Amino acid sequence: MRLAAPGPPTLSKFYRSAWWVIDLLYPPHCAGCGQPGVRWCQECRAAAKEIHQPVCPVCGQPQTGFSLCANCQTDAPRYTALRSCLFFSGVVRQAIHRLKYHRDLGAAEMLSEYLVRKYQTLDWQVDVVVPVPLSSAHLRQRGYNQAAFLALPFALRCGLPYQPSILRRSRSTASQVGLSISARRENVRGAFTARAPLTVGKKILLIDDVATTGATMDACAAALLHAGADSVYALTLAHALRREQQV
Ligand SMILES: [Zn+2]
Ligand SMILES: [Zn+2]
Repeated sequence: MRLAAPGPPTLSKFYRSAWWVIDLLYPPHCAGCGQPGVRWCQECRAAAKEIHQPVCPVCGQPQTGFSLCANCQTDAPRYTALRSCLFFSGVVRQAIHRLKYHRDLGAAEMLSEYLVRKYQTLDWQVDVVVPVPLSSAHLRQRGYNQAAFLALPFALRCGLPYQPSILRRSRSTASQVGLSISARRENVRGAFTARAPLTVGKKILLIDDVATTGATMDACAAALLHAGADSVYALTLAHALRREQQV
């Protein structure tokens, strides 16, 4: 594993210290259950379900075996592999909701530890970390990109270059909620553009909060590969089960 180096880099310590000061000034609430005084309490930490079971080797969909899932067999994604840390349910769903809609950015710094641990189990050895971008309209509306607040502390902890400017969302897309896999792919087709000089020959790691079908990651990967990237990997904090798996 590449991340066997002892201790996080200095910049990472600085970033964590900054959040420690912010917590002193503005005492946090648990991102999962709201209890005061901590960002992620022991109960929520224990209740968060990590994905340890077999997954599709490409899209990371939890399943019973290690073979390619039916979707990847019939319509292979452009990314090399996607993996997720936690099931998108219960306290994890609540924490991501607070991160996205209630500006709980301290939660992102804490939750990024899951990404670091997961990355340490993977032999990807990427060159650069890129958050999945929001459209400029969404960014203006929300004021921040939650994926960036996960990706930056992750990159600092792993000692990897962080380059959010490589990729941008060139148009807004409708919500993916409730859409089929093919409809999701159509919805995000061509929605991203990548900056060629910074991508050429690079192994790029995309970071996002939640993956469902991987359609967004696929569209990002298409743009990055078109701009000369060597390969694209994707890591998300959580994985939402597809509709057909929820029944
Ligand atoms: Zn809690
Ligand atoms: Zn798959």
